Amino acid sequence: MDLEFDRKHIWHPYASLFNPPPVYPVVRAEGVRIFLEDGRGLIDGMSSWWSALHGYNVPELNRALRAQMEQMSHVMFGGLTHEPAIALCRKLVEITPPGLNRVFLADSGSVSVEVAIKMALQFWHAQGKPGKHKLLALRNGYHGDTFGAMATCDPVTGMHHLFAGQLVQHLFAPAPQTSFGQPCPDGDIGELAQLVAQHREQLAAVILEPIVQGAGGMRFYSADYLRRVKALCDEYDLLLIADEIATGFGRSGQLFACDHAAVSPDILTLGKALTGGTLTLAATLCSDRIAQGICSGEAGVFMHGPTFMGNPLACAVANASIDLLLSSPWQHRVESIEAQLKEQLAPLEQAGGVADVRALGAIGVVQMREPVPMASLQAALIERGVWLRPFGKLVYTMPPYIISEADLTQLTAAMVDVLGEID
Ligand code: PMP
Repeated sequence: MDLEFDRKHIWHPYASLFNPPPVYPVVRAEGVRIFLEDGRGLIDGMSSWWSALHGYNVPELNRALRAQMEQMSHVMFGGLTHEPAIALCRKLVEITPPGLNRVFLADSGSVSVEVAIKMALQFWHAQGKPGKHKLLALRNGYHGDTFGAMATCDPVTGMHHLFAGQLVQHLFAPAPQTSFGQPCPDGDIGELAQLVAQHREQLAAVILEPIVQGAGGMRFYSADYLRRVKALCDEYDLLLIADEIATGFGRSGQLFACDHAAVSPDILTLGKALTGGTLTLAATLCSDRIAQGICSGEAGVFMHGPTFMGNPLACAVANASIDLLLSSPWQHRVESIEAQLKEQLAPLEQAGGVADVRALGAIGVVQMREPVPMASLQAALIERGVWLRPFGKLVYTMPPYIISEADLTQLTAAMVDVLGEID
């Protein structure tokens, strides 16, 4: 592969073109392994950023794609509809938290967040309350890289502080401190409650990642906190937008992270694992009340319509992925992965360079005391047959649910080996 051309001409995510971190040439992927050009197979501990739940080259997904390709790869969604989209949206309405009956199909996670924000704003506009146009987001939160989404990411610790001056100024509450499994004391929700009460006339919605704050810190917080936020939203007439782009489809141990708290948000965003990591597709679901509100407003319609909305190939493979997930013992697999991660990463609690070790569902996190050198750490893990992408102080894994006990043992052993050496 012409890596020289790649290095000089192709942007990779969050990378420089002039001092680029190494990129590894990958030629195929099968099961939980991705194979490099030199033949080495690496266990993918990232599930291609939360998405490849069933691993790679999955016969059921390939079959669905091939069959759909023979029928129709794409057709515009304006004024036309098709069975893959109808079947998918029916499933999403059935399996997501109760009350989310209306589905907007988008093409990436960040766009589904934009859609969610626009839904909230259009809803309040239609209610005759255009002043309710601010969002309340959480510190350490992360919702994507487009402008509307960036404005809801933590402006201080987040990745997008460079753009702070150009972004809509929203409000931010402290990140929840109470860990998953703990009841949430008043103190942990106090500042959020104050902000909600004080700014209710300006606030359209609270936006958060339920239970798992992902890119902003890989933190697992109390289900009780989430319940209390929902209660505050109801009390002060704010919408709740739950961003389950990372957590959706079982990753945290429940099908959706909101299920841990039995909370139904007003608006829900999904992406990443929606197609089992095969094609780009995302969805924003909302309740009847929001949909009716939006459509009774001045515009009478919801003002969004991407060209590739409802792409039939993506919908067909999403249908196959959800069917495969629901017909598998996914919850048992995710619980076993959690238990194995907890047990096998525990020795790192004693390591000098490690601040914290935690696992929830099929997510394992080692938080270091200092930021880690990504490139050299990645190289050391690759030598041990493992693919991870450390970020800042965090070295984490969210493997495909199909990972075997032996492969997960190899993955955790590599982490323990490499991270245990750092002071
Ligand atoms: N929200 C969350 C919680 C995410 O983890 C991500 C992706 N990292 C996004 C939104 C944005 O999704 P995408 O990268 O598909 O635009």
